[in-house]
Amino acid sequence: MKEQITEYCQKLNLSVIADQWSALADQAAKDNVPYSSFLFSLLEAEVVEKQVRSTTTLLKLSRLPFRKTIDEFNFSIQPTIDERRIRELMTLSFLKEHENPIFLGPPGIGKTHLAVSIGLQAISQGYKTYFVSAHDLIIQLRKADSDGKLEKKLRSFVKPRLLIIDEMGYMKLDIGDAHYLFQVIARRYEKGSIILTSNKSFGEWGEMVGDPVIATAILDRLLHHSRIFNLNGESYRLKEKRNKDKLEK
Ligand code: ADP
Ligand code: MG
Repeated sequence: MKEQITEYCQKLNLSVIADQWSALADQAAKDNVPYSSFLFSLLEAEVVEKQVRSTTTLLKLSRLPFRKTIDEFNFSIQPTIDERRIRELMTLSFLKEHENPIFLGPPGIGKTHLAVSIGLQAISQGYKTYFVSAHDLIIQLRKADSDGKLEKKLRSFVKPRLLIIDEMGYMKLDIGDAHYLFQVIARRYEKGSIILTSNKSFGEWGEMVGDPVIATAILDRLLHHSRIFNLNGESYRLKEKRNKDKLEK
């Protein structure tokens, strides 16, 4: 019977229970553990392992450029960021409402850090997340289009529950690029959240996208259900460098 139990567990994809049931059963018999507690500890071991495995997979698939959490973010040096609003994002209620958090501001003030930490939170709750720079998004779509695989590529940006588009604004888009971007944003509209970071204000999108009509069409969808964070202040990188230089003097 022992072998068969293990075999059935494997058939049912219960690899942890297959490994552990025998030792746990012996222990439970020795300790006079109630049947329900024994069953509970078996199932719990399996569930915990499955969660860890799926988080690891989601992390790999997400392409997050680094792993920094919100606890590593120092709010006290960044007065333009309302900690309460950021903590609210961490509840992920925006994901359920298909809202788009948007972080605007100059370089080095933590926009990517905040986006990444929300991404990590989403992954920890089992949501498929994908991080891409605006530059890579466009390059990938251009290539897919020339290979005749645009539709498939577009779907890969539409499917994740959370899409993070980082650093919009550094790359000037041509009209074809603008249409790619429109496709991604329009297809995700009211279906899946986008976190976007940018150094450009919305007023500059016409110029960035190269066409005011398509810029308006994109912004219309992006901003309809959005939470906008206007950040400002000195670059954290520069601040850190200055402190280091001071210490070295
Ligand atoms: P941005 O995307 O706005 O250019 P980043 O998020 O890349 O800025 O931040 C630059 C670096 O400074 C990162 O290593 C980030 O972790 C760090 N950083 C920025 N702001 C803070 C902060 N308030 N607390 C802790 N680290 C920060
Ligand atoms: Mg950044």
